[in-house]
Amino acid sequence: MKKLEEKFQEVKQYIEDNPRSDMRDISENCDVSTRQIEQWIREERLSFSDDSPIGIACEVCGATIKTGRYCERCKYDMANRLGSMYGSATSAVGNVDKERARREKARMRFLDK
Ligand SMILES: [Zn+2]
Repeated sequence: MKKLEEKFQEVKQYIEDNPRSDMRDISENCDVSTRQIEQWIREERLSFSDDSPIGIACEVCGATIKTGRYCERCKYDMANRLGSMYGSATSAVGNVDKERARREKARMRFLDK
C-alpha cells in the first residue's frame, strides 16, 4: 500500500513536469500500469490540463473526460435525477432528456451487475 502511494506521488510529479505526456508515456516512465493510472483518474486523484492528450471515457455516455467517472453533462443529469430523490429537483428536464435518462438508468443497472 505504501509502495503504491509512493508510485502515485511519482506519477503525479511526472505529470506536473510533463503535462503533455500521454498515458503510455507515463506508464513507461513511471513503471505503472495504464489501468492503475486510469483508476487514479477515476478517483479524481489525478487531473490533467486541457491541452493534455489524456482522457478517459465517461462511464455513462463515453464522452472524453479529464478526471472522475462522468462528464459534466451526465453529472448534471444525475444531479437532476438524484435531486428529485432529495426533493430539490429542477423541473427543466424535457421529454427527450427524460427518455434518455430512463435509458441510461437501465444501462447503469446493467453496469451495476
Ligand atoms: Zn457522459
